[in-house]
Amino acid sequence: MAETYQRVPMGAVKRIALIAHDNRKQDLLDWVRFNREALARHRLFATGTTGNLIARETGLDVVAFKSGPLGGDVQIGAKIVEGEIDALIFFWDPLEAQPHDPDIKALLRIAVLANIPVACNRATADFLLSSPLMTSEYERMVEDYGARLRR
Ligand code: PGA
Repeated sequence: MAETYQRVPMGAVKRIALIAHDNRKQDLLDWVRFNREALARHRLFATGTTGNLIARETGLDVVAFKSGPLGGDVQIGAKIVEGEIDALIFFWDPLEAQPHDPDIKALLRIAVLANIPVACNRATADFLLSSPLMTSEYERMVEDYGARLRR
């Protein structure tokens, strides 16, 4: 079984993607404010509106992609596929349908496939950020589909 997985190293400084749907943006912003110091040790990425809001309100450096409904979730999904995102904080709206629902589903699927830590609510985000693994190196196991096919 071991040979069907590859180990992907994650550095002590994590590349964290932040996304919040409109009804969850205040919640994420509060969480980011509260954890500003811890987050400043990492590299932050976000969908357009979320990223600009966080940068403006907290002064943190955030690389902002396109707005979610315009493809930002897909861009972050692609970064995960490329191994360029280590963790996803995604406060999606559990009470309102989104026009880009297929993109959201794809992003969450890719995040699970890539075996990166994902937090979809504040409590999980707290547990994630307070983990000692956030500031140390870690190797995540990722399915090696090619090895499985070669068997
Ligand atoms: P936004 O996108 O940060 O541009 O609002 C978030 C989303 O809807 O996925």
